[in-house]
Amino acid sequence: MSLQDRDSQFLWHPYTQHKTATPPIGIVKGEGALLWDEEGKQYIDAIASWWVNPYGHSNKYIAEAIYKQLTSLEHVLFGGFTHEPAVVLAERLMELLPSGQKKIFFSDNGSTAVEIAVKVALQYFYNKGDKRTKIIAFENAFHGDTFAAMAASGISFFTEAFRGSLIEVQRIPVPVEGKKEESIESLKKLALTGEYAAFIFEPLVQGAAGMVMYAPEVLDELMAICKGNNVFTIADEVMTGFGKTGKTFACDYLMRQPDMMCLSKALTGGTIPMAITTFTQELFDGFYDDDVNKALFHGHTFTANPTGCAAALASLDLLQTNEMQDNLVRINKKQLAFRKEIESHPRVKTARVLGVILALEIAREGNEDYYGGFRNRLYDFFLNNGVILRPVGNIVYILPPYIISDELLEIVYAVIRQAIEEVQ
Ligand SMILES: *Cc1c(COP(=O)(O)O)cnc(C)c1O
Repeated sequence: MSLQDRDSQFLWHPYTQHKTATPPIGIVKGEGALLWDEEGKQYIDAIASWWVNPYGHSNKYIAEAIYKQLTSLEHVLFGGFTHEPAVVLAERLMELLPSGQKKIFFSDNGSTAVEIAVKVALQYFYNKGDKRTKIIAFENAFHGDTFAAMAASGISFFTEAFRGSLIEVQRIPVPVEGKKEESIESLKKLALTGEYAAFIFEPLVQGAAGMVMYAPEVLDELMAICKGNNVFTIADEVMTGFGKTGKTFACDYLMRQPDMMCLSKALTGGTIPMAITTFTQELFDGFYDDDVNKALFHGHTFTANPTGCAAALASLDLLQTNEMQDNLVRINKKQLAFRKEIESHPRVKTARVLGVILALEIAREGNEDYYGGFRNRLYDFFLNNGVILRPVGNIVYILPPYIISDELLEIVYAVIRQAIEEVQ
């Protein structure tokens, strides 16, 4: 029996309506930007396996670091204990993060990183006896699938069933061209009420919304409003972190600094699930007290897993090589050139690039659903042509591993060109 057949007996997949979905593809091998299925068919992974894999599949350098760690200390509880990989990783991140970030809290995935940021914001005010119990987020945001992360997320059909059980969140428009003033005015109104603990955002690029991009200057303005009204800012860099925008963090484009940052996805080069939430000293001090009840009572069994930390350290080594930094520049140039070519196509509504990310919107009559028919036809067309791309409605985006060759990237472009012509 094929993997595909055996899978259907016991497995339940993410974001999948099993009654109508085509069966999942059984993948047996990955190397660099390529994957192979159980029938030997080759695919270009043009979305870095949900944005986690910048350095290529089955990366030997990270694998060796993981093996070495597994054979010296695979895991130890982080409550009451510590270890070298966590300490060194914290030290290394301190050199890379905006200077205001002073404390690092480990967890396992992007949603928990967000969950922790929101809990810290709410408990900070609770500890002070201040009633700030709501948060502010962008429309169409995506911050994950646990409860606080869901509350912060604005893609409604993801969260509709749980609406009654979520913390209160007010949404403001994303400050894309033409919406800046409205976004700023909406935030001002909310911030002035004194009811909001935090403003959470995906800095510069909203990933799951379809790589929606907005300018750093307006984010600086929004953050200034928060600062002036004691609303903490949470930069969710789960997608944007570690080079995707062309800088180490999207926040590196800003004049201002957030109070918290959420990191995951590329943190371990796509090998081991791990996440980090970082904090300013002010936030940490809001929990620092003789009263044990003011502590942050949050933890996960695998908090700061040494093997994950070793994978993250190896990933940082790779990110900081000249070769990888050159890759970021090379891919950005390719993407800009492709945008220039494709944006004049009559069927391309808009095209945008930041760092290694390119997104283009294909013109269609009427609105296109997130998982609608046109989207599925595009998705199938790409797969049939050996390219993994997951369009969001009528938005096609490329977020390749940084090690992808120009030749493979050209194949991705060719398949997209063809899709724009042929898929109706
Ligand atoms: C993917 C993502 C998350 C959720 O991360 P998981 O590891 O899937 O829980 C949160 N925020 C952003 C911006 C993301 O892209």
